[in-house]
Amino acid sequence: MTDSRKNVRPEIYQFGLGNFKITNILDGYFHREDMHPFTAMNASVSEIEAIAKEHLLPYPKLEHNFVPTLIETPDSLIAFDPGFGKRAPGPTAGWYNQLLEKTGYSPDEVTHVVISHGHPDHIANLITDGAPTFKHAEIIISRTEYEFWTGNSAIPDFRGPTRQMFQEIVVPLADRCRFIEPDASIVEGLTALNAFGHSAGHMAFHAESDGNELMILSDTIAHYAVSLANLEWQFSMDDNPEMAVESRKRIVGMAASSKAPIIAFHMPFPSVGYIEQTNSNFRWVPSTYQMNI
Ligand SMILES: [Zn+2]
Repeated sequence: MTDSRKNVRPEIYQFGLGNFKITNILDGYFHREDMHPFTAMNASVSEIEAIAKEHLLPYPKLEHNFVPTLIETPDSLIAFDPGFGKRAPGPTAGWYNQLLEKTGYSPDEVTHVVISHGHPDHIANLITDGAPTFKHAEIIISRTEYEFWTGNSAIPDFRGPTRQMFQEIVVPLADRCRFIEPDASIVEGLTALNAFGHSAGHMAFHAESDGNELMILSDTIAHYAVSLANLEWQFSMDDNPEMAVESRKRIVGMAASSKAPIIAFHMPFPSVGYIEQTNSNFRWVPSTYQMNI
């Protein structure tokens, strides 16, 4: 959590969606100095600098947030991508377990853990001190994703440690896993969506309760200002950039036409907003009080 000697900042945000209660938790953040090329490898420096200027952002600095979501339904408690946990690479991340306590939920109450994909910020907290962090939870992950990280397909050098972490953390939990395909129902009202490309089997999600919709985009978009300004721009962490662009176009299009609230793991906390189609592209419209009334 935030160092109490520094500034206090919002770390937990809750709202209702029909019969669901949604909780976003700030697992932490990284500060970086490489808005270009981190957020868009195939954009030019001047293009990204212009976006930063337009949004009054301090180029080339950026804050990359990690925002896991919990959904409480009438009969389940679902934790999406529960952050880094104790494996956080520094003190500005890995706050999830302490903050979860503050929400009043206990890790033992979690019935399902949904993993959007196998990158470290999304899987590392499945295990704490050698034991499952969520003792009673079924783990849901796409079959394509599991097969990719446990197989022998070629990966870029920087993903070597990711494959190793996946082997150490997810593989020992395989007997607790439910392997799903896109469009599968996870629990009533919660459906997986194909968002392949950021990783081999990366998934987004659609939630609906009592006629109210919400989409969880996971890592389909990476930076609130850059990623939506040009859907052809490739996030440097995309494992298959061309496929990620195709998925981004489809999922962002769905998000914009639904006019539903959107959550995405790396949006600025509390990571709730809307995606609006503009003349030529899209933009992130942060939620203000819509979820409170
Ligand atoms: Zn991520």
